[in-house]
Amino acid sequence: MTETSENPLLEHLKRRIALGGPITIADFMSDALAHPEHGYYRKQDPFGRKGDFITAPEISQMFGELIGLWAAVTWQQMGSPRKINLVELGPGRGTLMADALRAVRNVPGLSDALTVRFVETSPVLRTHQQTAIMPYGIPATWHEAFDDIPVSGNAPMIVIGNEFFDALPIRQFERASHGWSERLVGVDANTGELGFVRGAQTPVTDALVPATLRGTAKPGDIFESCPAAIAIADQVARRLNAVGGAALFIDYGHPHSAFGDTLQALKDHKYHPVLEQPGDADLTAHVDFAAIGRAMLEADARIGAVLTQGTFLRMLGIEQRAELLKESADDVQAKSIDAALARLIDADQMGTLFKVLIGYGRETAPPPCVSGAEG
Ligand code: SAH
Repeated sequence: MTETSENPLLEHLKRRIALGGPITIADFMSDALAHPEHGYYRKQDPFGRKGDFITAPEISQMFGELIGLWAAVTWQQMGSPRKINLVELGPGRGTLMADALRAVRNVPGLSDALTVRFVETSPVLRTHQQTAIMPYGIPATWHEAFDDIPVSGNAPMIVIGNEFFDALPIRQFERASHGWSERLVGVDANTGELGFVRGAQTPVTDALVPATLRGTAKPGDIFESCPAAIAIADQVARRLNAVGGAALFIDYGHPHSAFGDTLQALKDHKYHPVLEQPGDADLTAHVDFAAIGRAMLEADARIGAVLTQGTFLRMLGIEQRAELLKESADDVQAKSIDAALARLIDADQMGTLFKVLIGYGRETAPPPCVSGAEG
């Protein structure tokens, strides 16, 4: 028996395709990441140096601390409401939230106002999140989906999502010589392995490939659309309009919609063939921030200009924060603080590839770091 044929998710996918024909990349991603038994996020804790990848909150406590302070100032600018829901989408190990709660502990009135709402599908990660925030004594609830969060007395909401959208299933559309067709996942008749196939020609609407891009497409161009991300952006925008508040999305991606195949798999900190060993490798795609922003504007919420992570963290004072931490650090610790800082903000590391989008309710004051607001 080869290694791959022992992969139960691979067997499940091949059976699914044998019975029902090729599936969309979104269906493939959903199974690979979220299959209740064998999905990547369902069966393991994928983060950190020993995991398959490392995210900003796991690199340094400064990341979550500064986001906590951003949220605290946003709350104050709303007039320090008596109740506020602090929502995190896809909180991973809960590190960002723990660092944020620690950083705002001394902001007068905020701890009493806070309820944490985690949107998380993985039972394993929910346990990590609960443990991480335990020391701060803030009430918390867990939800399967954003829209499951109750409106609870119209308390306003601050929503945070770091590396959340990149894990949501995408669809890919390819420009053929005539029209568009969806890229699908099928089984190669010769090898019996999964492979990409081109589906029949299909009409694409603006929601799938924006009209402005459709006009410029050349044969072979691929456009990625993430209907799940757009649906969540729309739900968040509507909620922010209804109850007031702001949202902060950080992810790797592009500020303008563009062509390109960005679907990738990571295993043990290395790139991995996308269709091999589903459920054992992380799968992501770059986030189209223009599409997220458009969805929020169409729901009549407001957005700021897309910033790079480097610019955003510098605006929040990460360099000063690093200096302060170094004052009470020994030489080895000081070096690792500098290394973490560079990793988060330098252009050749996460500083430029990662982008920040801030959205806010139409009746909410622009939160910190909203520059060149649109809408
Ligand atoms: N924000 C964390 C983790 C990012 S990984 C960090 O920066 O370290 C993606 C997270 O989203 C994981 O917690 C994963 O379990 C969760 N997730 C993935 N798909 C989801 C979905 N459809 N709904 C809710 N959570 C999801």
